[in-house]
Amino acid sequence: MTDTFLDGNVLGGPLDSVFAVDVTGAMGRCANCGATRALGTSHVYVQAAGTVARCSSCGEILLRLVNAPGRIFVDLRGLSFLEVPAPEGAMQ
Ligand SMILES: [Zn+2]
Repeated sequence: MTDTFLDGNVLGGPLDSVFAVDVTGAMGRCANCGATRALGTSHVYVQAAGTVARCSSCGEILLRLVNAPGRIFVDLRGLSFLEVPAPEGAMQ
């Protein structure tokens, strides 16, 4: 792992294709260390085959995104939860 990463807010672009809400402010808990932070605070690496977001506390992988023709693979196993704001008008 290098020290070259982007701010987690860059995840807004690719994840907007998957989720109908802005997830950069979504709260997620790292499955490794338990840190609960906004996804926008993660360290994002785009040099790999896809996009990888790492925990800003322990460095473990929180999520992976891989684009393939006609589909997007999302691996969220590094998050024990992801709390996404409900869109306006959504049922409570
Ligand atoms: Zn962590």
